[in-house]
Amino acid sequence: WSAAEAEGLRSDFPALQQEVKPGVPLVYLDNAATSQKPKQVLDELNRFYSQDNSNVHRGMHTLSMRSTEAFETARQKVAKFVNAPDSHEIVFTRNATEAINLVARTWGAANIAKGDEIVLTVMEHHANLVPWQLLAESTGAVLRFGRLRDDGTLDVEQFESLIGDRTKLVAFCHVSNVLGCVNPVERVAKLAHSVGAKVLVDACQSVPHMPVDVQTLGADWLVASGHKMCGPTGIGFLWGRGEILRGSPPFLGGGEMIDQVTLEGSTFNDIPHKFEAGTPAFAEAVALGAACEYLTDLGMAAVSQRHRAGGEHELAKHLWSRLEALPGIHLYGPSPETQPDRASLVCFNVDGCHANDLATLVDQDRGVAMRSGHHCTQPLHGELGVTASARLSAYFYNTIEEIDVAVDALEVAIGLIRTGPAGDEPELDPA
Ligand code: PMP
Repeated sequence: WSAAEAEGLRSDFPALQQEVKPGVPLVYLDNAATSQKPKQVLDELNRFYSQDNSNVHRGMHTLSMRSTEAFETARQKVAKFVNAPDSHEIVFTRNATEAINLVARTWGAANIAKGDEIVLTVMEHHANLVPWQLLAESTGAVLRFGRLRDDGTLDVEQFESLIGDRTKLVAFCHVSNVLGCVNPVERVAKLAHSVGAKVLVDACQSVPHMPVDVQTLGADWLVASGHKMCGPTGIGFLWGRGEILRGSPPFLGGGEMIDQVTLEGSTFNDIPHKFEAGTPAFAEAVALGAACEYLTDLGMAAVSQRHRAGGEHELAKHLWSRLEALPGIHLYGPSPETQPDRASLVCFNVDGCHANDLATLVDQDRGVAMRSGHHCTQPLHGELGVTASARLSAYFYNTIEEIDVAVDALEVAIGLIRTGPAGDEPELDPA
């Protein structure tokens, strides 16, 4: 989009308009952790709570019917956003973490047995690792791991060599929240299905940034979190194939997920309600529907498009090339030359500088929101030979100028850390 359009876009996001201290505008580059919210989503949340708020599914009165209608319409919007064939295949969860645990505790507990193999990768977020470790511990199943190539991408051949007769499940991320690489879901799903295994895709870092079509990807489940895609916190979703969801036992027990209850036992509701025990986060679900509409109006192809000015691929290329030029820097994941579709997030370390110190200094100096730590991927950091890294992650509302501010601030911070506060380097924000 043009500079004017980009400016218009940014004005949709109230949080982006602030200064973190007088004269220092916020440069928000922590989007892989959570995105900011456009006023269209905030207004819808406010409108819903102000006008329609009433518990869903259990009332005959006007407000309850309005609220139920809005909640179920939101489900349809989410289904359309990822091209799910049937909105009943969308289960609302608190977040992606809960969605993965749901699959592990329901389908996993019923179908995984001693000696079965679950194939993961070393780049998984803890959310797509710990639930499978717990399942393996309780069943005697074995976890196997796809590893990395030297260029920071998944070693697809080695990963695929793990998939065989004993494989029951292949679970991996579409886009890594640390390496930014895009994994070949379609190809791996075909192979997994040819040996009778099921496939779960952690799409937390892809659904917000690129067109995602569950029917094209060909997996069996896909999970995402609303808060990373312009929606509120407390709402995420699981898409699953209808027949698998119907054939899986329920998750949590309680209201809404039942059909008939007697003192002796219960029968269960149809999908998706079977997996939505208790009062759901219905207002947040409605706002997530608004977020899907906002992103659809923007056009997900435009958000990601490589050759279009302002597209995320351009941001990724600029971010990578500016960072690469810093002295003593180590960038993780594939370069945009190696993988042109890589995500617009980059993790790195700088010799002699702790990531936490860099993050503190760029915030203080230029208002840059940069994350540091293990990003919930301790095993991956172990593979990279470090315990922490710094991460700059852009979204469609970020500009090339903001990336320049962030990298300029990093340059100053590196100088300051290396020479120490008493050195000749210019002092960071003396105020
Ligand atoms: N997987 C990936 C790849 C992620 O980036 C994240 C969030 N950092 C998660 C899973 C977990 O998301 P949530 O905490 O919203 O459940």
